[in-house]
Amino acid sequence: PLILGIETSCDETGIALVRGRELLADVTASSMDEHARYGGIIPEIASRAHLESFVPTLDATLERADVDLSEVDAIAVTAGPGLVGSLTVGVSAAKALALALGKPFYGVNHIIGHIAVDELVNGEIPANSVGLVVSGGHSSLLRIGDIATDVEELGATLDDAAGEAFDKVGRVLGLPYPGGPHIDRLSREGDRTAIRFPRGLVGGRHKEKHQYDFSFSGLKTAVARYIEGLETEGVDIPVEDIAAGFSESVADVLSAKALAACRSQDTDTLVIGGGFSANSRLRELVTERAESAGITVRIPPIRYCTDNGAMIAALGSALVRAGVEPSSLDITVDTSMPMDVIRA
Ligand code: ATP
Ligand code: MG
Ligand code: FE
Repeated sequence: PLILGIETSCDETGIALVRGRELLADVTASSMDEHARYGGIIPEIASRAHLESFVPTLDATLERADVDLSEVDAIAVTAGPGLVGSLTVGVSAAKALALALGKPFYGVNHIIGHIAVDELVNGEIPANSVGLVVSGGHSSLLRIGDIATDVEELGATLDDAAGEAFDKVGRVLGLPYPGGPHIDRLSREGDRTAIRFPRGLVGGRHKEKHQYDFSFSGLKTAVARYIEGLETEGVDIPVEDIAAGFSESVADVLSAKALAACRSQDTDTLVIGGGFSANSRLRELVTERAESAGITVRIPPIRYCTDNGAMIAALGSALVRAGVEPSSLDITVDTSMPMDVIRA
């Protein structure tokens, strides 16, 4: 079956066509340039941009795949989590298309889509895998019994997401928004052992209760304090070493907890997704540690790690394959959709 996937949870309007696990076309329009000068996403600007980009992006996707809208067998759209206005544009458009074409409609979970997209590149995700989704809004460890029918959250961040912490440290360092990629670039010129920043929720009294949870807010504050301290002393800021030490702390915690989850779930497959999985130190460290633990790490190419329509089409395709019932056309968006809800 041919699945149309629609993603509008944040600032990207992403539309894609997938047949089985084959990606036919994937087009993304982003309003990030408009948000960058405000140093963060402005929800009203994002919703308006989705409205303006929707039809051109849909047309471009159909044209690129050389497909007519009438050939589409099912429509999948992000129903949550995300920004209410942004989500509403995509869900309303998807409902209208489903109704007009008389095709089934699936309102799906964006975060699970970040994992599902890996199927388009690396093939079927084995039953009983562990997923790590790290992005601008989320840092979650998932038990994936089956990507279409059985997902459970093992743990998540108690405060900032990994990408969010990078963007906030980026602001302290005076880097352009979003700061994540800039810190990554700078960190490669620094010494990651020069400054040791704290690891959040690791060991000690957190061992049991928060074994698979994360906390990056204290780390972010520690980095800010460190910089302030140097500024008061009038000392030059070793930006590269700070970026490297900070990246090391985040990558260390993420990879250690993800591999611990794999061991406890007795799985040999770890799938990583979300915009932060572009981070070079995370990729390096998790690959190194997984290798020595005999665990296979699957990370999609960077262009599929950030928000796109392919991830939603991939998840829709998995749902259709598994024979999951479509969503009702009555569903509304869920800005904080729980991780065990794969489709609304
Ligand atoms: P969510 O999926 O939780 O709704 P989102 O979709 O907005 O959030 P993504 O687009 O998946 O988030 O990821 C964007 C985040 O990833 C930003 O915070 C950005 O700074 C961060 N990021 C991207 N590349 C890198 C990198 N190389 N190193 C660190 N952070 C990065
Ligand atoms: Mg984004
Ligand atoms: Fe995302």
